[in-house]
This record gives sequence, C-alpha cells and structure tokens, in this order.
Amino acid sequence: MSEPLKHPLAPEERVGYALVGIGKLAEEEILPALEASKRSRLAALVTSDLEDGKRLARRYGLSPEAVYGYDDYDRLADNPGVHAVYIILPNHLHEDYTVRAARMGKHVLCEKPMANSVAEGERMIAACRAAGVKLMIAYRCQYEPHHWAVREMVQQGRFGAVKLVESVHCQVETDPDEWRLKRKEAGGGPLVDIGVYSLNTIRFVLGLEPVEVFAQTYATPDDPRFREVEEQMSWQMRFENGVLAACLTGYSAFRSSRYRLYAEGGWVGLDPAFDYRGLHLSLGREEEGQQVVEERRFPAPNQFALELDHFARCIQEDLTPFTPGEEGLQDLRLIEALYTSARTGRPVRLEVPDKPDAFRGEWP
Ligand code: NAD
Repeated sequence: MSEPLKHPLAPEERVGYALVGIGKLAEEEILPALEASKRSRLAALVTSDLEDGKRLARRYGLSPEAVYGYDDYDRLADNPGVHAVYIILPNHLHEDYTVRAARMGKHVLCEKPMANSVAEGERMIAACRAAGVKLMIAYRCQYEPHHWAVREMVQQGRFGAVKLVESVHCQVETDPDEWRLKRKEAGGGPLVDIGVYSLNTIRFVLGLEPVEVFAQTYATPDDPRFREVEEQMSWQMRFENGVLAACLTGYSAFRSSRYRLYAEGGWVGLDPAFDYRGLHLSLGREEEGQQVVEERRFPAPNQFALELDHFARCIQEDLTPFTPGEEGLQDLRLIEALYTSARTGRPVRLEVPDKPDAFRGEWP
C-alpha cells in the first residue's frame, strides 16, 4: 500500500461527498469516517427524513440547505461542492442512483453488492463511462492493512504455495420485515450481503479468479425470515492454480467472520476478518516439531476513511480506483454462478482472465 498523506488537506481542497441513504452504516460509520479522512469531506446528505438529516447536518457542520430529500436527488447537479455521491441504499436502488449521478456528472462510490444482477452492474459501468465519471465499489477490506499483510505473505510465498482456503461469515437476522430478507430489494440472502466478503477477499488475497464454483443452499421450511432468500449457503471455488476454497455464510448462525489460507509450511488468516475494527491476524507454522502460533496486530486506521480517501485521490489525480465497477461486476458474475449451481446441483465453470488482479485499478 502507498504512504498515506502526512497532513490532511484543507477543506476546500478535499473531495466533497453526498451521502445517499442515511441508515445505520451511514450514520454510525461513514459520517465519523469522513471526519477521520484526509482528502474527503461531507458535502450533502440525501435522506427520507429531512429533520433527522438536519440534526446530523448540525452535528457535522453542514449547512441545512445541503440536506436533500430523495425527490430532490437530481438537484445535486446544481451543487458544485458535491464531487461524488456515496450510495448507501438497499441493493435494488444502486443502479438507478448510480445512473442518475452519472448523468449529473458526479463520481460514484457505491456500496457492495454493486447491484442485484450482472445486467444492472453492466448498465452502471456503461453509464459512468459514457458520462466520464469514476465508479468505485466500496470493498473496504481491500484498503485495510491487515488484509494487505495477508495478501503480501501469500503472494510472496511466505509458507510456500497456498493450497487451501476456508472462510466463514455469518450473523443472525431476526426481523422478517428487514429489506435484506426480500429478494427484490436484496437480490439474494446472506451470500450477497455478507458471504460476498469471503468471495471478494479471497479473490483479492490470491489476486486470482475462480475457474469453477459449486454451491448448496438451505432455508428452514416455514421460517418467515427465509421465504424469499436462502438461510445459508456453503460453496467451493477452484482456482486455475489448483487452490480450493471452501466458504460458509448464513443468517441464523452465530456471528463469525474469518478466513485462513493453508500452504505446506504454515497458515495465515484473520479472525475477525470482516469487522469494522479489532481485526486480528495470526500465523501458524512448525518449529522443532511443535506448532507455533504467532499473533500480529497493526495500527488500525479507520478502514472507511481509507477507502473514501482512495476514491478522493482517484478523482483528484484522474486514476482508476483499485476496486472499480469491473471488480463489483466480477462478484456479480460469481454470485449468479453460485445461485445457478445451487439451483441445478451442478458445478459451474467460468472464464478466467489471463492476468492477475485483472479487474483492479490503481494500487491504494
Ligand atoms: P439500512 O436499512 O440501515 O439503511 C438503508 C437506508 O436506505 C435507510 O436510510 C432507508 O431509509 C433508505 N431507503 C431509501 N429507500 C429505501 C427503500 N425503498 N427501502 C429501504 N430503505 C430505503 O441499510 P444499510 O445497512 O445502511 O445498507 C445500505 C447499503 O450498504 C447496502 O447496500 C449494504 O449492503 C451496504 N452495507 C455495507 C456495509 C459495509 O461494511 N461496507 C455495511 C452495511 C451495509
């Protein structure tokens, strides 16, 4: 990873973001992250609750005129302080809000999953390309130092060639009315919401793409939460170099977030891996016939601030983001292949690019 800026930029030199959708993530993580950032600043809020938006505006030093309702979204075009929008809406709204931002000439940072289908993702990329604006998908783990440390150890062959990978990402969803449990809104169940971290991070750490995937899903009959989406999924991925990855995700199993890669001379992994803070790296190897486990912790800057500042730098220096729309689209292809496999009971083969990190842009 490159050296971060030593000194924060002055407010007028920073990239101004409009946050679109002020739910839990926006309020609890992104607003504080903007304050912790060095190149980014809050420029507008787009919300259904104007009063609440004005309360947040007061708290974060934003003018009340910079709080917009969804009906006024397209008026952001007239706000020159807004350089980029950050779309933090339920998944089925990502395409529409991205395409409209592109038409306004605003750059787009969009939450994962990029969209609910490959076709939607392709239209988002096309709209941003046609408008000459940048599109980045908010894969925060790809900007976080613990994940980079794992990637470097793996790619430098610290324990030899990686052979096997495992990953688990589970949490308990209790409210059957939550949009995450509605197919039209969410596009799928735990796979698209949290399993995507395992999928995306394994691809990132290896720098490679799977050639074949196989999945199984299950939903407890009569559980009102899982009428429309899977309750849990287990899946496997085979990479071109023979690495096999086994992943689990679910919405009714105890909160877990981890991955581990195994080579002949040892293993390395994170647990927790996908949390917002408190990530924990460990390595296992043999020393004089005994297994030795080593723990590593790094200074942990706010990972949302790192990703906001990477996109800001790409806008300021005219670079392709490390996780552009194409990176999100590749996950959508794999998600569709995994659901096809689960439905048909058969593995699905995929085309692989002929170079590593094929869908990624400028190094963060
Ligand atoms: P949330 O339910 O907490 O917030 C969604 C916001 O969208 C709310 O402010 C809601 O009012 C608004 N909204 C507008 N139209 C809506 C509609 N038709 N239905 C429901 N809500 C509507 O959701 P969230 O957890 O903030 O998730 C939003 C996006 O962020 C999702 O794409 C999710 O996958 C992503 N997310 C990413 C992370 C991460 O770590 N990167 C974490 C959580 C969520």
